[in-house]
Amino acid sequence: MSKEDYEIVIGLEVHAELSTKTKIFCSCKNEFGAEPNTHICPVCMGMPGALPVLNEKVVEYAVKAGIATNCEISRNSKNDRKNYFYPDTPKAYQISQFDKPLCENGYIEIEDENGEKKKIGITRIHIEDDAAKLNHNEFGGGSLVDLNRAGVPLIETVSEPDMRNSKEVENYLRKLKSIYEYIEVSDCKMQEGSFRADINLSVRKKGAKEFGTRTEMKNMSSFRSIVRAIEYEADRQIDIIEEGGKIEQETRRWDDVSGKTFSMRDKEDAQDYRYFPDPDLMAIRLSDEYIENIKKNLPELPESRKARYINEIGLSEKDANLLTASKHLSNMFEEASNICKNHKQVANWLLSDVSRILNEKEMEAEEIPFTAEELAKMITLIEKGTISSSLGKKVIEELFENPKDPEEIIKEKGWIQISDEGAIKEVVQKILQANPQSVEDYKAGKDRALGFLVGQAMKETKGKANPQMLNKMFIEELKK
Ligand SMILES: [Zn+2]
Repeated sequence: MSKEDYEIVIGLEVHAELSTKTKIFCSCKNEFGAEPNTHICPVCMGMPGALPVLNEKVVEYAVKAGIATNCEISRNSKNDRKNYFYPDTPKAYQISQFDKPLCENGYIEIEDENGEKKKIGITRIHIEDDAAKLNHNEFGGGSLVDLNRAGVPLIETVSEPDMRNSKEVENYLRKLKSIYEYIEVSDCKMQEGSFRADINLSVRKKGAKEFGTRTEMKNMSSFRSIVRAIEYEADRQIDIIEEGGKIEQETRRWDDVSGKTFSMRDKEDAQDYRYFPDPDLMAIRLSDEYIENIKKNLPELPESRKARYINEIGLSEKDANLLTASKHLSNMFEEASNICKNHKQVANWLLSDVSRILNEKEMEAEEIPFTAEELAKMITLIEKGTISSSLGKKVIEELFENPKDPEEIIKEKGWIQISDEGAIKEVVQKILQANPQSVEDYKAGKDRALGFLVGQAMKETKGKANPQMLNKMFIEELKK
């Protein structure tokens, strides 16, 4: 049998760090990048006798996430202890949710490989505390623990095993990320680990009803490695089955450098964790009124923003899709459009040159280094004829390297378009004198000669002459 005879089955567990001001069970600051062990207290250090108090905002954010992903919100919920020892968990247990998560039975809609709409089920969303961070010391040996991250609130979104290839996984993750960004529950910065995925993957012969044995790859936080890891792991499992072997249920680690996965440990089952209700925390009871209130105040979701772009601004569905995929890109589109009043041009620049450069640099939209105002200003400069659109492309490139006022950039670089009639006339005459053959050709009816002459004039001015003016003036002169 060959690869084509197998189906890949993928389900995801996504951890998103919530952007609350304080941690989940204490009043320590929830902040990324602070000096190690400066945002800590007896509760998040796991001192015996310290008592946790649930941060109400965490519940609110999780309910928001549940509503935005079409989940049912549980009126009765609770926190459970998940027991395991690891040096990054001083309590020797994580406070999570076992049989009564806050949100269940939702779905989000994505596009499959062929661009068709597909629903991906959300099994549950629950709240839990993050572990501390281990910094493995390369020089002195040993590992150091930073407890600033211990007790940072997380929501874990568990999907159904509904995805069949890496493209669907990428689309699902991008959609979920954009939803959480839009409703402002997480900044979803993958490079800071605040949005990371565990991938459960198995393969089975096409048409089989039973799932194969799955492996889990933990803490993946870049789209590129996720796609590569899925493709590698699916091939690895198919090869083993084809050779008559058996897949072990285990946790595997993806190594980005070698492009392979390695066995880490046997995968635990729920019973291994000895879950039990946390006796230090009260049950969570939510009223209908509380949930309704959150529903009413939910910020605009990507789907409705997309509809607005199509119906009110007249963008194509494809463009609207691309622009709303990232909240940052979409906000930039709206802000820049408000300043320069030219929606179409802003969309064009963002989806062509800006997106191309992001791709080349392997950057995400939120890493765009310039502001909406700077983009709007560049577009206005083109509209006013100060620069040509080909110079605009250079300005965009410069904005990525050295972001500042586009007007300053073109002044410094000497990129101002020549629109002065006298200067243009001078160039036109110079080119006409230097190319008598082309002048004759044009007069003999060969229109192509005009293009050549304009091209020569552009070369002469290093691309700075206003092309419309050049064209017009050549025609005038040639008629004489
Ligand atoms: Zn604390």
